[in-house]
Amino acid sequence: MRKSYEHCIRCTICVENCPVFKVNPQYPGPKQAGPDAMRFRIEGEKKVDSWISLCTQCRRCEQVCPHDVKPATLILQAQMEYVKYNGAKPTQIIFSNFHFISHLASFFAPVANFATSLTIVKKMMKLVGLRDDIPFPRFSFRTMQRNKVKPEQGKRKAVFFHGCYLNGNAPDTGRNIVRLMQDLGVEVLVPPQVCCGLPALGNGNEKKAKSFAQKNAEIFASKVEQGYDIIYACTSCGHTLIHSYPELAGEKGKMIAENSWNIYEYIEKLINEKQLVLKLKEVKKVVSYHVPCHLKGSGKPYPALGLFHSIPGIELHVMDDNCCGFSGSYGFKKKNRETTERLGKIAVKAHLESNPDVIISDCGACRMQIENYTDVRVCDPIEILKESLE
Ligand code: SF4
Ligand code: SF4
Repeated sequence: MRKSYEHCIRCTICVENCPVFKVNPQYPGPKQAGPDAMRFRIEGEKKVDSWISLCTQCRRCEQVCPHDVKPATLILQAQMEYVKYNGAKPTQIIFSNFHFISHLASFFAPVANFATSLTIVKKMMKLVGLRDDIPFPRFSFRTMQRNKVKPEQGKRKAVFFHGCYLNGNAPDTGRNIVRLMQDLGVEVLVPPQVCCGLPALGNGNEKKAKSFAQKNAEIFASKVEQGYDIIYACTSCGHTLIHSYPELAGEKGKMIAENSWNIYEYIEKLINEKQLVLKLKEVKKVVSYHVPCHLKGSGKPYPALGLFHSIPGIELHVMDDNCCGFSGSYGFKKKNRETTERLGKIAVKAHLESNPDVIISDCGACRMQIENYTDVRVCDPIEILKESLE
């Protein structure tokens, strides 16, 4: 059972593991921002501790706390209270509604991609608090929803939760995931769906997060009742489905949490249940695996590792000590630029030590951030697995 802030024994282990505390002297760290400050937070009182927005919600503090206190959850509550009493900033409104922006931008993809590269548009973005020094993610008209992979019958049935990034920004990767799962004998459906709700939560809009979660829970719970499993590849979406949906979407949310599988966890399950035998071909590559914080924070062994260790010829380096610093919408905000940049450079420097041919990461935002600091190829792990299966 989750212990309350009163159970904090002030060991400071969480502080030692907080990436933001390491690089930003303005941030007091998870102990002070979480359990310590909770003692003074009075419900209904106008919130003044604006530095709580410096927490990226990477959740590394929760993973290491020996007393099961949840500093990131306490900080998230305080972030939402702060927005409630002080109003949402333009960037918070933009990212809470990213689902709609992504739909609109992908519908007008060539125009949106051209517009976000213009200096005048970048200046306008800067005025509302966005960064103008990094490329804005490119949108694709051929989203996963618009160009669906035709379902094929399989021994197992699954529905794919793709999230906003795979749908609007990296749909080819998303379709590769669906095709690969179908090749492994899983019938995969891609039902209509909305954002998982994480950007709304992280930007202080619990009401919107709940409305997204409830819509998804309605769609996916009915599929679970029909015998489908839920699979996901984006580790931030997965973290939200499993850890936040029971609270955001009640009984149906619990059903989602109990039936959602990371794709690699799902492949391993099929192998263990003797429904699948994988023949993996040699891939002679040095691969550096950037483990996203939300995967590390799930507290489980990394699901892709078993498979990747079985690929002959691969030299795999598992990098889970560093947060890339981007954390979804956090890295796009002008006020977080320095923190994000410092963390990104530390993470990429660590990757480059092994002289990798390719850097892989399950998270689209981590991949975008790593690409900002290196010319080494950066891709989703599925691309390497696909190469080994071809
Ligand atoms: S969630 Fe991450 S950034 Fe926030 S306090 Fe915990 S470790 Fe630090
Ligand atoms: S929140 Fe947990 S890790 Fe952090 S100081 Fe308290 S007991 Fe230690």
